[in-house]
Amino acid sequence: MGRGVILNYREFLPCTDATPVINLGEGDTPLVASVSLGGQLGCGELYFKLEGCNPTGSFKDRGMVFAVAKAIESGSKAIICASTGNTSASAAAYGARCGLDVIVIVPEGKIARGKFAQAIAYGANIVNIQGNFDDALKIVLALCEKHPVSLVNSINPFRIEGQKTASFEIIDVLGDAPDYLFIPVGNAGNITAYWKGFVEYHRAGKSTKKPRMMGFEAEGAAPIVKGYPVKEPKTVASAIRIGNPASWKSAVSAAAESGGLIDCVTDDEILESYQLLSTREGIFGEPASAASLAGLIKMKNTGMDFSGKKVVCVITGTGLKDPETALANSRSIINVPGDLASVEKALGWG
Ligand SMILES: *Cc1c(COP(=O)(O)O)cnc(C)c1O
Repeated sequence: MGRGVILNYREFLPCTDATPVINLGEGDTPLVASVSLGGQLGCGELYFKLEGCNPTGSFKDRGMVFAVAKAIESGSKAIICASTGNTSASAAAYGARCGLDVIVIVPEGKIARGKFAQAIAYGANIVNIQGNFDDALKIVLALCEKHPVSLVNSINPFRIEGQKTASFEIIDVLGDAPDYLFIPVGNAGNITAYWKGFVEYHRAGKSTKKPRMMGFEAEGAAPIVKGYPVKEPKTVASAIRIGNPASWKSAVSAAAESGGLIDCVTDDEILESYQLLSTREGIFGEPASAASLAGLIKMKNTGMDFSGKKVVCVITGTGLKDPETALANSRSIINVPGDLASVEKALGWG
C-alpha cells in the first residue's frame, strides 16, 4: 500500500529508465462490498470502487501521476489542462509536488467549490473563462500548439495509461474480472482506460474474462447517446457536464467490444442514487459518481438480471468535492436553543 501506481504497475506502463517515479499515494483504492443495495438489486455480488480515496479525492490522480512523470521525462517545466474541476485539482497537486508551473482553464462559476479550493490551495494559475468545459478545452489545445507547455487532459495518452491501473486493482482483489462494470461517462477517458486495462490484464493471463462496460452519461449532457455534440450540456453532475467528449470513439468501442452499452440517466436518478449511496451504504460520492449506481438501477428496472453476477460500480470522486449539492439536499436539520431539554424535545425524547 502507498507505493503509488507507477511502482505498483510499472511493467504494464510505457515507462523508460528515464521515467521518474512520482507518488502521492494514488491507487490501491478500496473495493468495498455492498451491504444493502446489491441484495435489493438482485446482484450476485455488488462492489463499489472508491476512487474518492485517491490523494485529491478522484480517480484523476491515477492518470495525472503518469502524465506528469512523462511530462518531466520529456523536459517539460509546465503543465496545462481544461477542467470541470477534478483534473485541475489533480494537476495542481502533482504539479506542486514536482515543482512544475500549473495552468488550469476552467468554466467560470461551474466548478464545484471543493475542487476550486483545491486548485487554489495547491497554487495553480487559474484562468476562469466565460464558457463551458468544451470551450476551455479548445483554448487549451490552441495554447499547446503555440507555447512550451504539456497538456494533461485525458487526450494525453499517458492519462489513459495511468487510469487503466484501476482495472488491474479490481482483478487483483477479486481474483478475476467482474461480469459488469458500471461507470460514469463525461469526457469518456475513464471508460476507455478501464477497458484498456481489462483487455491488457486478460491478455497477460491475469483474468479469465472481461466485463461488460456499462457507461452512463447525464441526460442533459449525453452526446454519445444522442449521436451528436451537445452545445450547452446541463446536469447537476458537474464532472460529466461535457458536450463533446474527447474519447468519444474509444468509449463507443469499449462498450461495443465488451458487449456493454452507453446510456444516460436523469439528474433525478443521479440525485436519488447519490442519496442511496450515502444513506444506505455509507459511501459519500460526488454527484457524477452516482451515475454508475443510477445506471445499474435503471438497467435493473428495464429487466436486466444480475443474479449470480459480479458487478462493480466505480465511485469516481468523493462527495466532499461538492458540498453545495449535499447541503441543497439536506433533510432533517433541527435548530434549537443550546440546552439539554430543548435537544431532547427536538429528538422526540422530551
Ligand atoms: C472526470 C470525472 C468523471 C468523468 O470521467 P471521464 O473520463 O471524463 O469520462 C466522472 N466522475 C468524476 C468524479 C470525475 O472527476
